[in-house]
Amino acid sequence: MRVGILGAGQLGQMLARAGHALGMEFRFLAPPGESCVEGLGELLLGDLRDPALLDRFVQGLEAVTYEWENVPAAAIEHLRRRVPVRPGPESLRIGQDRIQEKQFFRSCGLSVQAFAPVDAPRDFAMALQAVPLPGMLKTRRLGYDGKGQARIKDARDLSAAFEMLGGVPCILEAFVPFQAEISLLAVRALDAGGTEEIRFWTPCRNEHREGILDRTVSPAPELDAVVIHEAQHGVRQLLRRLGHEGVLCVEFFLKDGHLVANEMAPRVHNSGHATIEGAFTSQFENHMRAVARMPLGSTEARGVTAMRNLVGSVGCPQAAMPKGTFLHLYGKQPRARRKLGHVTSVAQREIDAVAACDAAFAALQAQPASARG
Ligand code: AMP
Repeated sequence: MRVGILGAGQLGQMLARAGHALGMEFRFLAPPGESCVEGLGELLLGDLRDPALLDRFVQGLEAVTYEWENVPAAAIEHLRRRVPVRPGPESLRIGQDRIQEKQFFRSCGLSVQAFAPVDAPRDFAMALQAVPLPGMLKTRRLGYDGKGQARIKDARDLSAAFEMLGGVPCILEAFVPFQAEISLLAVRALDAGGTEEIRFWTPCRNEHREGILDRTVSPAPELDAVVIHEAQHGVRQLLRRLGHEGVLCVEFFLKDGHLVANEMAPRVHNSGHATIEGAFTSQFENHMRAVARMPLGSTEARGVTAMRNLVGSVGCPQAAMPKGTFLHLYGKQPRARRKLGHVTSVAQREIDAVAACDAAFAALQAQPASARG
């Protein structure tokens, strides 16, 4: 099967590796810039709003998927006239707008924090009435890794924050003093007869550093079965109502034993990277299975996993890796705040998984001998 992927970053790289094992071939289309998919398929670079380029890309493909959520909606509409695009445009549309996303979460039975739109200064007063402070002002669209957001401690901060974010449409939401950040990865697939299959991986607990995911542990140790069951119920509704085919990730805050839904990514997700070694079927393989309408593999965990992102630079990529740990380097040029790779560990106990992952991380981040002076 020949599949097209919109985007050519590390998620595209891991999707293609999983797809190759299933006998698939790939073509990528991405905006100009660095890519991580060399040797994994044909790569076209250009403006995703260019219909001629989209036509070249889609030639001979049997399905198209995407690995980042800011794909222009018009590109998906154009491509869908020629081949199935999975997940479909509805998942992308809802995921691209933080207001619609929260309204949609609520309609699927998931709890959300207080929020209000701030499209222009005339909305300040109404938003401040609806949302208790402290809060966060975020751009409605195109935010990622903590970009496009500002803390609002009191009402006087709002005007400057809105200007700082460029005066674009925003959302004001209540700050949630959470105990932990949790993500839930799910996959939905249809077979040729339209029968659906939905599976979940074990929930992840995520720790961020400067707005970027630093460490993930799965299963998240502090969640009880009832809370997981409720969240899965809401996410199941969400997948069905979107008609989603593929992997989807919902991020939550855990506060006083309850999960508050924050945002979703209609694609494979950084917090699911440890499923490559830590689950019977990875998020990448099951996503490609759903795109191809193949039966899904088991999402059951092989053990407890820990994952750490390698961000900005990797001091010692040749470091010896402790037993039970796995290194993934994406082949990207080092740059501040850039995700260059990740390290994963799988063990029977959380304490061992975290210790092995942290040891591998420390070894990889050690200064090379030549830099020690
Ligand atoms: P987001 O882009 O919404 O995922 O936000 C990036 C990170 O900022 C989250 O992972 C949280 O650590 C933090 N954050 C965002 N929104 C809130 C909120 N309403 N309350 C508390 N922390 C938040």
